[in-house]
Amino acid sequence: MKIERIEIHLIRVPFDMGAAPKAFAGMNWTSVDSLFVRVCTDVGVEGWGEGWGHVACPTTSAALASLVGPAFIGSEVSDRSALMAEMAHRFHIHGRSGPVVYALSAIEIALWDIAGKVASLPIASLLGGAPRELTAYASLLRYAEPELVARAVERALAQGFRHIKLHEVRLETVRAARAACGESVWMALDTNCPWSVSQSIDNARALEASRLAWLEEPVWPPEDFHGLARVRAAASTPIAAGENVAGIHEMESMLRTGAVDICQPSVIKFGGIEAVAQAVTLARAHGVDYVPHCFYFGPGFLASLHLAAAYAPEVPFELFFGDLQASPYHDAVRARDGQLAVPTGPGLGIEPDLAVIDRCRLGAPIVIGR
Ligand SMILES: [Mg+2]
Repeated sequence: MKIERIEIHLIRVPFDMGAAPKAFAGMNWTSVDSLFVRVCTDVGVEGWGEGWGHVACPTTSAALASLVGPAFIGSEVSDRSALMAEMAHRFHIHGRSGPVVYALSAIEIALWDIAGKVASLPIASLLGGAPRELTAYASLLRYAEPELVARAVERALAQGFRHIKLHEVRLETVRAARAACGESVWMALDTNCPWSVSQSIDNARALEASRLAWLEEPVWPPEDFHGLARVRAAASTPIAAGENVAGIHEMESMLRTGAVDICQPSVIKFGGIEAVAQAVTLARAHGVDYVPHCFYFGPGFLASLHLAAAYAPEVPFELFFGDLQASPYHDAVRARDGQLAVPTGPGLGIEPDLAVIDRCRLGAPIVIGR
């Protein structure tokens, strides 16, 4: 079975976060972008993947269209690991993370979807697990004001969530969120690398009273693993990181340094499903828990569900908390009473609704091959 055609579909979905958007990761969020990739084979089996694409859509798309995609046309897919290893080597001079690796991640996920369809098994089963229900955590955007974050927490609780993650950086907003949800609700904090090591230590200590399930990425830059290890040693709150780690070898450095309690590879940035599976094995060897990073809603979301079903079925699963106006996977990316079902069909388990993709697309699809 050979790859005959690769299609790139960029989509943009507006959402409502229940308040005016605040600057977060360099932009005001009123919509989320997603980069869907369809890989078609010469025997008619096709698979879907996703590459990191929030604001990176144009760069990941360009890497796929100009460099990575054409290299896969005509490739035999039966030995996925060998093919991906060959491509990783071929493209390593472009860097070991960034758009080229995100593009490789997208194709790798699509090849797992194809493998699952050929075997008539969901990816969770190919990984040695099984589809099941997962508990979701509501991953809130940044509200920045204590009253706004408290109201967002109340909305999440009203929707049935008992697990909440904040993306705040001011301590008073975290305290307001804890006051709004009470002591019994599971609450984590993701700061997205805002602080120096000493600021992180001060803030981690100050936040101990907020009883966080974890403190995620407090330190800038994200690859300062020694600095992160100092934060971990200085406060009792568990430390989480990993979504910005470049591949398995940098992940090993992070784990060896003793920087984290929880590692969070992002399947659409890290090289795909097999790369994440390797990271899970490595993390376990270091006594570190795996929790998927999953701030997206496309094929990468489904891939993360399958990974979680296989490797992290008991930990809360990240779910973007914003009212999406549309989704190519409809209710499969929405929680019910704080629970998510892993799709049971072959491969990723469910096919995207092409009409929704067409309605939300940014520009014409890019087609590589024939
Ligand atoms: Mg994060």
